[in-house]
Amino acid sequence: MSRARFRRLALLAVLLLQPLVCSPSPAKAASALAAWALTEQGTLQLRTGRHARLEAFFQGPSDGKGTRVWIDLPGELKFPRRVAGRGAVKEIRLGKPRPGATRLVIEFQPWVQLNPNDLTLRGTAADRWELAFKGLPLKGLDDMGEGDLTGRSAWSPSIRIRPSQVPVDPSGLPTVAQNRYSVVIDPGHGGPDPGAVGIRGLRESDVVLDVSLQVAALLRARGVTVNLTRTREVDVDLPPRVSLANRSGANAFVSIHANALSMSRPDVNGVETFFFSDPRSARLAAYLQQQMMAVSGGSPNRGVRRGRFFVIRRTTMPSALVEMGFVTGAIDAPRLATADHRRRLALAIAAGVLNYLKLEVR
Ligand SMILES: [Zn+2]
Repeated sequence: MSRARFRRLALLAVLLLQPLVCSPSPAKAASALAAWALTEQGTLQLRTGRHARLEAFFQGPSDGKGTRVWIDLPGELKFPRRVAGRGAVKEIRLGKPRPGATRLVIEFQPWVQLNPNDLTLRGTAADRWELAFKGLPLKGLDDMGEGDLTGRSAWSPSIRIRPSQVPVDPSGLPTVAQNRYSVVIDPGHGGPDPGAVGIRGLRESDVVLDVSLQVAALLRARGVTVNLTRTREVDVDLPPRVSLANRSGANAFVSIHANALSMSRPDVNGVETFFFSDPRSARLAAYLQQQMMAVSGGSPNRGVRRGRFFVIRRTTMPSALVEMGFVTGAIDAPRLATADHRRRLALAIAAGVLNYLKLEVR
């Protein structure tokens, strides 16, 4: 692809007063992207390192793809990922176009028409940016995003969750044939990658590790072989998670996550489960969603959806990715912070997996 074909948006290069990260190797500098959100009003909001230098680009529909707008930022993104879009937004991709850089791509549906002359990425503060997609059809759009856009790091005290030491009781769970099934459980994020950080500093990676370890214990108690992609607060990149799963010959793969939006949207709560494309994965996702909803009263059912997350797209066995609630949600966050709710979620996910194995795997 040649850059020359791309039309550059108004380019706002704020002079660097000081290097963002004092590192001799730019590839080692952390990404300047701290948080992003795309609002249901069609506005992209970014929080970055102070005085980061951003470049924005536009490409109209081509090669069967819709319009793409992307923003390059300094510092290397550690975890490239895709986020499924809603409405006129097909997908958001966070990538590493070259060592030492971060790229945020918004791809619109092929039928969306935008005029690049109407688009400007504006700096609104030393670390805040806004781009209003003028003319974007708003129907079906939904607030989406990652990280804490408000950047108020002074919540106190922040919540740190340690994996539960209390063994969880498997006696109410469905039974399956002993030593016949194998499952991979993938606790999202970990180590230096906290995933989403929500209300009172509730960290997604802590929540999902605690739940995942309990799910593994419950399944093992039912005679299922379980491989975990991580068992501690360490970070494991996405490709090794997938190759571990694919090597294991497991009957199912379940990636466990919690959702997040900006801190200014505590009204958004809910449970959802993603699968990539095949019908068996869709059924696995449905069993998981059904069980999680049964223990998540008051939290909206966001349903079973298709998603293009790397770990469910590249795994060769039926796979699903659960989002157990919003760490930024007023209903979900306080609950996810309690050991009791995490135990109930672990029981629910284990029951969903066992139902799937029992009823769908021959
Ligand atoms: Zn996650």
